[in-house]
Amino acid sequence: MKAIVKKEKKFGGIEVTEVPIPDMDHDEVLVRMHHASICGSDIHAYHYAPTHHFIEPPVIMGHEGSGHVEKVGSSVTGFRPGDRVVIEAIQYCGVCESCMKGKRHICNRFQIRGMHRDGVFSEYVAVKAPYLHKFPESLSYAQASLVEPVSVLTHAVLDRSAIGAGDVVLITGPGPIGILGAQMVKIAGAEPVVVGVEADEAVRMPISRSLGIKTINADRESIPEFLIKHYNRETVHAVVECSGAPSAFRTALDLVVKGGNITLVGLFAKLVEANLSNAVRKEISIHTSFSSDWENFERAIKLLDRGLFQIDPLVAHYRPDDAIQAFEDAIAKKVPKPMFDF
Ligand SMILES: [Zn+2]
Ligand SMILES: [Zn+2]
Repeated sequence: MKAIVKKEKKFGGIEVTEVPIPDMDHDEVLVRMHHASICGSDIHAYHYAPTHHFIEPPVIMGHEGSGHVEKVGSSVTGFRPGDRVVIEAIQYCGVCESCMKGKRHICNRFQIRGMHRDGVFSEYVAVKAPYLHKFPESLSYAQASLVEPVSVLTHAVLDRSAIGAGDVVLITGPGPIGILGAQMVKIAGAEPVVVGVEADEAVRMPISRSLGIKTINADRESIPEFLIKHYNRETVHAVVECSGAPSAFRTALDLVVKGGNITLVGLFAKLVEANLSNAVRKEISIHTSFSSDWENFERAIKLLDRGLFQIDPLVAHYRPDDAIQAFEDAIAKKVPKPMFDF
């Protein structure tokens, strides 16, 4: 079968290659992938960024994807051939302290698909049944590929942040997570304002604006002036940081109201320098949010099924053979969400 494999510990170092169809255990399901999409963390893996030096090549990349059940193992119940499914990104041990406390997505021995273990950028994936979620006919396979990133925002905005209905919420970073985050903030009854920089002006910010989201280019416009003009206030009630840029964290500290909250979703590739005394004096709550759990997946599927997200404008399709092009286009910010058609 065809697979996109991280072969070497260096920038790029990927290859589209033939590998054997995975062997299937009695408690596993063999999924024939239809679509799989590139996540920000896959780009870190492509870069072989210091945050991702734990990756041990060769490994099949990717953790966002959808497909149908091809075969089920002898002890699997609840799934049958033909079911439309998405796969959770994180495999957990089930017995460590985090798992026992019900926080399996931050399992002490977690394995991220496409990084610690083979991922979903391939024609077939063998996966244990508890990591699968069925999705309805109302969602196309391509749309379902984005269940995973939507589940990440379900976790960040609905579980981890303290965003209330009516809040004005700054979203730093107009990438796919930022744009999906803005849509999730609306679902929570709050008002999102997406902030980007000049480099986002070509593709990302026009998409954000086209979805009816208030979107500011911070290199051209003052955020406080924008806030005064639209909301008659200089601060925001909350920030969801989706860019991973240290400067965005400093902006968040400056602009969040006293007693407000900041939720960090983006992974920072560099160490962050910030005036935390300012945060203490303002009594800001800083939350972090990582990945998503079983319930977040189920909830993301329901929200997508109800048509609450516009995701098609984020996506551009690529053949797996054009994987390098897809990664390079994502890095150049030409395409928010490159998607492989397997
Ligand atoms: Zn992802
Ligand atoms: Zn565990």
